[in-house]
This record gives sequence, C-alpha cells and structure tokens, in this order.
Amino acid sequence: MTTTTTTTRISKVERRITVVAVVLPFLAFLVALWLLWGGAVTGRDLAILAVMYVLVGFGVTIGFHRLFTHRSFEAKPWLRATLAALGSMSVQGAVIHWVADHRKHHAFTDEEGDPHSPHLQEGTGWRGVLSGLWHSHMGWLFGGERSSAKRFAPDLRKDPMIRRIDRLFPLWVTLGLVIPFVAGLALSGGELVAGLTAALWAGLVRVFLQHHATWSVNSICHMYGKQPFAIKDESRNNWAVALVSLGEGWHHSHHAFPTSARHGLDKTQLDPSYAVIRLFERLGWAWNVKNPREDQIEAKLRQPGDTDARATEPPPPVDEDHAMEAEESSDREVVGTATRS
Ligand SMILES: [Zn+2]
Ligand SMILES: [Zn+2]
Repeated sequence: MTTTTTTTRISKVERRITVVAVVLPFLAFLVALWLLWGGAVTGRDLAILAVMYVLVGFGVTIGFHRLFTHRSFEAKPWLRATLAALGSMSVQGAVIHWVADHRKHHAFTDEEGDPHSPHLQEGTGWRGVLSGLWHSHMGWLFGGERSSAKRFAPDLRKDPMIRRIDRLFPLWVTLGLVIPFVAGLALSGGELVAGLTAALWAGLVRVFLQHHATWSVNSICHMYGKQPFAIKDESRNNWAVALVSLGEGWHHSHHAFPTSARHGLDKTQLDPSYAVIRLFERLGWAWNVKNPREDQIEAKLRQPGDTDARATEPPPPVDEDHAMEAEESSDREVVGTATRS
C-alpha cells in the first residue's frame, strides 16, 4: 500500500511556521515557570487561563473532533462557526487540515499511512518506544507531508463558512492571545502588565498545555491504557489523558465507536465534552446526537481468552481509491445502528 495519493507536500515556509508554532509556546512556558518561581503570577492570570483552556479545548474536542471530523451530531450554523474559531485558537493547524489528518488516522490506524502511529517507527526496546512516542506526539508534525484535504475532508472544503474560518486561521491565533490580554487589562482596571501576564499565561502557556494534551491522545493513548473492546488497533483508554483533554482520553472506546458523540461510554468515565454536547442538545442548539446502544457496546467487548485485540478481527482491506468512502461506510455502520441519546 502506498500513501502517495493521500498526502500533499508541505512547503518550507509552512514547515518553518510549524516549528515556530511548536517552539514559541514551549519557550513561553519556560519563561512563565521562571516568573512563577519569582512569584509573578496572579490568581487572575490563572483564572483567565482556566477559562481559555476550557473554551478553546471544547473547540477542539467538540468542534474539530466530534462535530467536524466524525459528524457525531449536527449543530446550528453559529455554533459550528464558534466551535471552529475556538478550536483554531489551539494553534493545532486550521480546521480543514486538522480534520484531514484525523480522518486519515482513523482510516489507517496503526498501519502504514497513519500520520501519527507510535507503532511504525524503527528500533527495538526502549529506543523503539521512545522513537514511537516522539513521532506520534509531535515528530510527525515536522515531516514533509500532510494529509490530503481533497481526499479526506471534501465535505468541509465544500462548506463556504468552514472554508472562510479555515482561511482566517491567523486571525483566530491572534485572537487567542488578544482575548486574554484584554481580559487581564479589564479585570485589573487597566494595568498594562496585567494584560501582558494574562496574554503569557492564558495565551502562550495555554497553547503549550493544549498542544501536549491533544498530542498525548495520539501518543500515550496508542501505547498505555486499557483496551476493553475487541478491535484491531492499538488505541487505549487512559484516564489521566482523559482528565487533561476534556474526555478525549477514552480513545480506545472512540476507535471502537468513532461516530459516537460520547467517548466515556462507561458512567464512571468522565467526559466533559459529551456533557456539553448534551447541554447543547437540551438547549436546542444540537441534534441527531449519535451514540451506540448498550447491546452494541456489549457486543464489541473483548471476551475472556481474546489476548490480542488484533487477532480478534482481521484488518479490513483498504482500497486506496476509496479510503474516504470506506471510512464513511464504516461510520455509517455505527451511525445506522446508533440511537439518539
Ligand atoms: Zn487514535
Ligand atoms: Zn477521532
């Protein structure tokens, strides 16, 4: 299987922008730690950080992931636009390419063609583990290729509103810094320093934290955690990642039921993103919320004796020319039998 038709080349300029987008928040985090050591952080900074983290986080988990990638519910146009703009403030790339990468990950999970599997790197023992973790966490961002949006996100490319939000990506990134600055300024009664420290903590440090929360789903949740379902990939449920990623750490359950709006399928699995989708539904802002029925969940559970999830189900044949269609039809399989929650 080749991946030539599923990727496009990244220009040198784009690669440089990626490096800056990854390194700058990291440097800001170091500066913030140094300021923290000197006591130069206020409760106000941390409160603005918490609010921004949650709002932008939901933009990624509810918007980029559950709504735009997997269409696990439908929403009013203004809500779609708001979620797309908020998710863009996480500086993980513009919405259409984010979706293309993630759909490709689902189409080729842990097989050749997966943009960020930790299981396809060379090396054995700890060297192999570290190289896999690095690649899946952030190394894949620096490769020379990215998933073809034409191939994996044709629906979003046809949506004029999403195209506009996608093109305005630099504006959303800037707003992600300006909003905390203005909030710091306003809440301090006009102190410029308060605006700047809020922009540092709730802007750049928040981007750093969100980068690593999302990337941990790609790295840690494909290496460490539980696999209750009999599915063929290496995805895992990891409660610690779920905690920092607003429910996205129930990643194995998500791979078992990709179009389910709910990822924490068990009552004990905290999934704040799903709680908010339910709230949207009650308010009449979201509808057609897809979830698997209890018997469907039960039927996919791994049975005693199934020691290797891969052995329980042969990998489905992937037709290069119909990768997207194949993914959509497997989605339909879940959607078709799902019920409204
Ligand atoms: Zn995954
Ligand atoms: Zn997904």
